Amino acid sequence: MFTSLSDRLTATFKNLRGKGRLTESDVNSTIRDIRLALLDADVALPVVKQFTAGVRERALGAEVSQALNPAQQVVKIVNDELVSILGGETRTIQYAKNPPTVIMLAGLQGAGKTTLAGKLAYWLKDQGHTPILVAADLQRPNAVTQLEVVGERAGVPVFAPERGNIGGHDAVGPTGEGTRSFGDPIAVSRAGIEQARQKQHDVVIVDTAGRLAVDADLMQQAANIRAAIQPDEVLFVIDAMIGQAAVETAQAFQEGVDFTGVVLSKLDGDARGGAALSVASITGRPIMFASTGENVKDFEVFHPDRMASRILDMGDVLTLIEQAERAFDRSQAEEMQRKFLAEEDFTFDDFLSQMAALKKMGGLKSMLGMMPGMGQMKAQLDNLDPKEFDRIEAMVRSMTPFERTHSKQINGSRRARIAKGSGVQVSEVNALLERFTEAQKMMKQLARGGGIPGMPGMPG
Ligand code: GDP
Repeated sequence: MFTSLSDRLTATFKNLRGKGRLTESDVNSTIRDIRLALLDADVALPVVKQFTAGVRERALGAEVSQALNPAQQVVKIVNDELVSILGGETRTIQYAKNPPTVIMLAGLQGAGKTTLAGKLAYWLKDQGHTPILVAADLQRPNAVTQLEVVGERAGVPVFAPERGNIGGHDAVGPTGEGTRSFGDPIAVSRAGIEQARQKQHDVVIVDTAGRLAVDADLMQQAANIRAAIQPDEVLFVIDAMIGQAAVETAQAFQEGVDFTGVVLSKLDGDARGGAALSVASITGRPIMFASTGENVKDFEVFHPDRMASRILDMGDVLTLIEQAERAFDRSQAEEMQRKFLAEEDFTFDDFLSQMAALKKMGGLKSMLGMMPGMGQMKAQLDNLDPKEFDRIEAMVRSMTPFERTHSKQINGSRRARIAKGSGVQVSEVNALLERFTEAQKMMKQLARGGGIPGMPGMPG
């Protein structure tokens, strides 16, 4: 997602590199490029206009920074504006003072609501809550079963209408749905919330019905449920792949159910994604979460600032750290913590396994950016080609076990041997050793200074 937008913007910024001063025509042509990139990415026209106007005003204004060169200034301005159209501050669930907090899900059929229900429940559980899922999507009998499967995967209970009642006394829903509906979603939602109260679940997630296209009945039903259960949050789930229709759909749901937040689903897809980017700006509602796959863990809190830097390819270090948290298992984390506390213990083998773990998680640049000691090298690394990692790996593999644990003893002849063994110049081995020493130092500092925020099992 967003790769082509990202590539386009990066290319635009490249043209500015090396300019000592930005003229009005530099600014104009940059803005023209940005505008085209956004439109090609399906960003809605009013949002594009607002965006480019903001960038132009600031780029031509008095914002001259001594610390940044002109290209960097433009990147910073574009980044700030991007953060702002994505909703500014990060916002997640606001919990009710008196539990249970009730979260209602709304969206088109196929948007990913049911899948999201499981992910959200799993995430809430991970945050120490005791969620329960309520199956109020009674349009499709399958939806209830699907929610039960999802709940099982997330390890969270599901409240569903008794199957005996299907087609029974509730055969006509509140919207006069008649035979297509097999229960009253309002009654089920209320009963679910009551159950949560009795069994001390502090969050209730109510999954409601969707249809293939926005229609008045669906909206009325959702509005009726909203009015009846007074949820604390109404999350509108939208498929990031649906293109320009996103804006219209979001507006219809805003009018219909007045949602409090947005969840972008299928962000793992390769759609252009711009329409999804328009939703926060058009509706004025924050994007709270992103759904990024079919697995229950493929779910993230949406951070406008991090998403902006991801789009601008500035390395999404914080998200990577969070992912690292999940990817590292506990024993590995404890081992790392131990090593963090003792500089000498951090060996080339750790260095390699860290790199391998991080390589799994994302692009090389952002990966190295978050490695201890590598952060400061970001500028140099910006021009790094991906083969660099392979070369580093080859060099470490050419070291003996003794050398991997005693880096200070790698003298000239050992360096020459390592270089020969891995097919690189001695200068590259020197550079690696320098880098490694930096990393060790950084480890020590981090251990003293309280650790990397968010790293697993790390102090602090
Ligand atoms: P609902 O009708 O809104 O409840 O949508 P579902 O939860 O049933 O999802 C519709 C389809 O999209 C299913 O095949 C899901 O597996 C798939 N899906 C949901 N979320 C994601 C996601 O984040 N990424 C991908 N790749 N697929 C998803």
